[in-house]
Amino acid sequence: MIDKALRLLESGRVERLDGDRYNVIGNHGTYSVVARDGKVTCTCAGFQSRRRCSHSSAVTILRSRRRGKS
Ligand SMILES: [Zn+2]
Repeated sequence: MIDKALRLLESGRVERLDGDRYNVIGNHGTYSVVARDGKVTCTCAGFQSRRRCSHSSAVTILRSRRRGKS
């Protein structure tokens, strides 16, 4: 899961729309990821059933990296 999330990040497939919203281009389509109140949600089927997925993980990693730099 984390490897896949890192691969999404490194291939530039996480796109920031505005403050808390991101588009993540996955292997099967583009998903909307929203980060709010410390929680990250994704529109993909995997997230609906497992409450986690590589897309939301990628955004979580991206946000923690940004915090670390500033
Ligand atoms: Zn997802």
